[in-house]
Amino acid sequence: MDAARTPDRRPAQAAAILIALGVFLVDTLTPLEGAVAVLYVVVVLIAARAFSRRGVILAAGLCLALTATAYLASHGPAAFGSPLLRCFVSLAAVGITTALALRHKADAAVLAEQARLLDLTHDAVFVRDARGAITFWNRGAEEFYGWPAAEVMGCVAHDLLRTVLPAERDAIMAELLRTGRWEGELVQTVGAGRTVVVESRWALQRDAGGAALAVLETNTDVTERKRTFAALVESERRYRSIFDNTRVSILQQDWSGAKAALDALRAAGVRDVAAHLAGDPDLAARLRRSVRVVDVNAVTLRLFGAPDRHALTGSLDALLQEGDQTFPKALAALADGEAFFEGETLVRTLDRGTVPVLFGIGFPADPAGLDCVLVHAIDITERRQAQEALLGVQAELAHAARVSTLGELTATLAHEINQPLAAVVTNGEAALRWMRREVPDLDEVGAAVTRVVANGNRAGAIVARIRGFLTKAPPRPEWLDLPEMIGEAAQLLERELARHDVTLRLSLAAGLPPVKGDRVQLQQVVINLMLNGIQAMTAVRERPRVLSVQAAGQEDAQVRVDVIDSGDGLDPEAAERVFQPFFTTKRDGMGMGLAICRSTVEAHGGRLWVSDAGPGAAFHFTLPASEARAA
Ligand code: ADP
Repeated sequence: MDAARTPDRRPAQAAAILIALGVFLVDTLTPLEGAVAVLYVVVVLIAARAFSRRGVILAAGLCLALTATAYLASHGPAAFGSPLLRCFVSLAAVGITTALALRHKADAAVLAEQARLLDLTHDAVFVRDARGAITFWNRGAEEFYGWPAAEVMGCVAHDLLRTVLPAERDAIMAELLRTGRWEGELVQTVGAGRTVVVESRWALQRDAGGAALAVLETNTDVTERKRTFAALVESERRYRSIFDNTRVSILQQDWSGAKAALDALRAAGVRDVAAHLAGDPDLAARLRRSVRVVDVNAVTLRLFGAPDRHALTGSLDALLQEGDQTFPKALAALADGEAFFEGETLVRTLDRGTVPVLFGIGFPADPAGLDCVLVHAIDITERRQAQEALLGVQAELAHAARVSTLGELTATLAHEINQPLAAVVTNGEAALRWMRREVPDLDEVGAAVTRVVANGNRAGAIVARIRGFLTKAPPRPEWLDLPEMIGEAAQLLERELARHDVTLRLSLAAGLPPVKGDRVQLQQVVINLMLNGIQAMTAVRERPRVLSVQAAGQEDAQVRVDVIDSGDGLDPEAAERVFQPFFTTKRDGMGMGLAICRSTVEAHGGRLWVSDAGPGAAFHFTLPASEARAA
């Protein structure tokens, strides 16, 4: 670039030397009496352009010497008069021209130095004259626009750059002439054909009379900045579109105040923020007030029944319930540096009281972003309702299953009650007979009536047990003696066992700890498993039909019950599926028994599973036992 900017001076230097020689020869050899030596002025002027300052002085000295030499050679030292005068005029002309040329050269050097300073800036700087033609083009302009200075000198700048002005040219020029300056954004085309956006500053230079002389134009490339800004605007637009159009409720919140308070707690040595807040409800409430809702989307307005954003922006406190437990946990998550926290809580709406929501808070990794925390929430009212409905259906099914076992139990019930009733009748008749004697034996009467009362009570207890089993009474947990409960179940199934010719083997460990649970529900589990075992052996002919029920304590403070039959067992595929609702292989089965048994056992904190007893199936369940009583 430097080589291109520095013109080749050698031809001018050669011309200066040749002209000097030519003038000298003409001056010396021709009889011309004119002031030929004045022509050395031309040599000085050319030298001023072609040589450095020293070169100019040397050239001028040479011209003076040649003038004097030619005079002496032509006229001799004794000649006075007009030739000598002409010689002095020539010498004076060369001297004055040299002085002026040196002065001009010095000025030009200063100007060139100043122009070089403009080369230091990265901005594209150029000067255009009153017609718009380029008179100066700095290095920044060469690099940015892609044209060397030599190529563009004299070109009309804004035609070359295909400048698109942001306003009417006349209006811009009027402002420039009025204020001497103009600033604005231009679109231009660089040498490679690429379109660029520049921030342009124009400064007007006037002549002594105030007329516009030139414009210094400084252009800064802002294409990339504009593109980044446009990308930012687009990103913001996309975020806004998600924020406004998503079907999830989004609340933009400012947690920076809360974070500052948490940092202060940390600095004061508090490690367990959740525990600290639990012990200082005032601080927890203050922090809750410090979190601010900044913006909400349309779904949030609907969720809270709010007419506009302003109804919800402000302190988060207004949206949460008095006893909300999730906020301190969210603070603890923030204090622990977690990126996400989610939970379920009740929020206060403006139109329908409290509403259950599932929410998630995304904490930005950079604490500076905590003034824009996004919280999303989903109304789970319907899900809750569906869950409740499902639980209701399950309870109904459990009830239906209990009623369905009524058929099985009717015979047992009749058998059970028949026996005490028969005893009541027999003992009543005996009492009558002892009373009707000539001398009534009141002792015998008393003994018979006592037996009547005892048998009546037994019948009443059996009826109460069956009623409890069939009603939809809510679970009533109590401490239960498992062996006693299994014994009762065995009694209820006595007739079923006899009818199917099944031998029952009870093996109930002594001193088993009690378990906590609902008597009727757990008894149903045992009865269901025993009935299934009895039914599984109906087809067995070649081996004894034996149903074993065992209960024993385990090391892990659980009590385990095993119900084992000698039927045909379960194939592996069925073993997987028997606990699924409505899986049955029986013609009149409901397939609910084992599903309900499993949910009952699990609700009591235990586990129910099946294994192969080869031949036969073994169902096992565990229940947590009271350790205290086990001791
Ligand atoms: P249901 O008795 O109405 O069929 P259950 O849920 O109690 O409903 O049992 C589901 C299925 O599991 C039964 O149909 C049967 O195929 C199988 N099953 C249950 N207990 C046994 C067992 N002791 N031996 C073999 N199969 C069994």
